[in-house]
Amino acid sequence: MRAIKRLLSALLLLAVLLGAGAGREKALDRDIALHAATVRSLVDGVIPGAAYSWLASFTDGFGSRIAGSAQLSEAVDFLVAEAHAAGLENVHTEETDPLPTWVRGAESATLTSPRLAGEREAKLHISALGRSVGTAAGGLEAPVVVVGNWSELDAVDARGSIVLLNAHYVGYGETVQYRVHGAARAAQRGAVAVLVRSITPFSPNLPHTGLGSSDGPTPIPAAAVSLEDADMLARMAARGQDVRVRLSLGCHEGPPASGRVVVAEIAGAEAAHEVVLLSGHLDSWDVGSGAVDDGGGLALGLHSMLLVKRLGMRPRRTLRFVAWSGEEYGMGSSRYWREHAEEAGNITIAFESDAGVFEPIGLQLSAPVQAHAVARAVGRLLVEAGSNGAVESGGEGTDIASAMALGIPGASLANEATAYMRNGGRNPSDPRLQGDYFVYHHTEADTVSALDAGQVDAALRTWAAFALVFANMSAPLPRGPPADDAALMAALGSAHTRPPPQVCSARWSDDLHPPQGGAADLQGGVSVLHLAFACFASSILGAAGCWLLLNPGNRAPGGSGSDDQRVAHETWASRPVPVVPIRREGEEGCLEEAHGGTLEAVREAEEGAEREALLHGQASALR
Ligand SMILES: [Zn+2]
Repeated sequence: MRAIKRLLSALLLLAVLLGAGAGREKALDRDIALHAATVRSLVDGVIPGAAYSWLASFTDGFGSRIAGSAQLSEAVDFLVAEAHAAGLENVHTEETDPLPTWVRGAESATLTSPRLAGEREAKLHISALGRSVGTAAGGLEAPVVVVGNWSELDAVDARGSIVLLNAHYVGYGETVQYRVHGAARAAQRGAVAVLVRSITPFSPNLPHTGLGSSDGPTPIPAAAVSLEDADMLARMAARGQDVRVRLSLGCHEGPPASGRVVVAEIAGAEAAHEVVLLSGHLDSWDVGSGAVDDGGGLALGLHSMLLVKRLGMRPRRTLRFVAWSGEEYGMGSSRYWREHAEEAGNITIAFESDAGVFEPIGLQLSAPVQAHAVARAVGRLLVEAGSNGAVESGGEGTDIASAMALGIPGASLANEATAYMRNGGRNPSDPRLQGDYFVYHHTEADTVSALDAGQVDAALRTWAAFALVFANMSAPLPRGPPADDAALMAALGSAHTRPPPQVCSARWSDDLHPPQGGAADLQGGVSVLHLAFACFASSILGAAGCWLLLNPGNRAPGGSGSDDQRVAHETWASRPVPVVPIRREGEEGCLEEAHGGTLEAVREAEEGAEREALLHGQASALR
């Protein structure tokens, strides 16, 4: 009976994959619907707080785990023991390519000029970039030259100077170029050292380290500096003051040493040679305790395995957990994928979570349209089970990039941080939109306190359910060139299945609010409470009352304020802004639309969206 059922479902899926015309969607749904009970068991089977608690204990116990460190080696041994203890199978380690062994040592940067108060000096918040060379003993002192971008760097005489690369964050991929290439390009201009404005949209006076050079040690000492200190140095330079810094970096590099990746499996019952691979990376930078980057990804992979094991499920294909070592140097998985290239045809999909385990949305997937259709059907089961199952394009990860190059579909966790990255990483002034990933990334603040137990549980449900259904379904996930949003739109009618947020009320940025004229209603825009109150009032005053309370005219900028307020407002209104997403409540819920131009234009668009929603009676979504 079981065999017949499986044969039937295989035939159904085959029909779907071959594009059997009419009924194709239904056939797909029938095939995937066979896994509804499995998904529900996984969703219900997560022990609240257990994965977070494991991660807290792990990161408290080992702290940071930079490649080449004793902590990383001990963490590898610990993970192997954990996997054995949990009854996972084929538990072993595999050697990585040789990795740098870089040690930070003592470091400091002191502003020696221009402080006005006598001899007082100021300590700057810096963190040497990974693989930076150190300064000579005793450090170096030099004038600071501030540049905002490459063309400004190319136009200055930086001989004998410390260059401050003060590029403001517009998105990780774009701005991180200053961290990776800054030392080499500043050295070409004759600089003796480089300070790089931290690659982050927001972070309270924290320097963000990270790899300083993509091809070996940096040619000159290089360190990240906090946003606040970069701003201060830039202000001083703009005033024409003589800015000087004494920099001392004790970092140095030893001979390369190989690391170990940890592998543990639950062997497939019927197609053990076919593999669904779940991964995160075990190494971190040497600051904080590597909970966001990437202890959370590690916990998701391991705890998905533990969940399946604890529920006594035996997948059809093999579930393989891999903990990479050396991601931060960009080489934690290169040897693994070289040595497993022949197996690539049997690796159904490779998952890597490395963008923080924050509020999950679902799965990001780099795979063809047919695979997206399958994943969407799985996502619907997750949603029916009360969990998060959106499917979007763009699955990625440093350690699965080589797998994807071999034709293996790639998946990553879609969360608020990845949504932000996909939006181009714009609107740096609003932490709520950014997700928190790049706020904590590569800093002393990357600890488990940055994460939330409930969000980790939610991510675990999503991660484990997609993985297990991909491991159990009758045919392997279809593979081929990954579909982009246009292809998904054309074939499936939408680019993603991200559910709209339930409430359209959140204000994205205080920047959107005009300067205060004293009226409280200039402040808030429409908060949940505001709307609730307005709609309560409307039940007394009628719809007109509601309208009066929310009419943007009532919080017109400037109001009847003074000339100072008017000038302030004009300055505010004409401030140029990059693209800012506006949430607009529409038929599908809250949609995001991009608006650019001036702050005034953005605010008008935002208020227009709210007004429209209200006029169409759609504020009922706020219930
Ligand atoms: Zn990472």
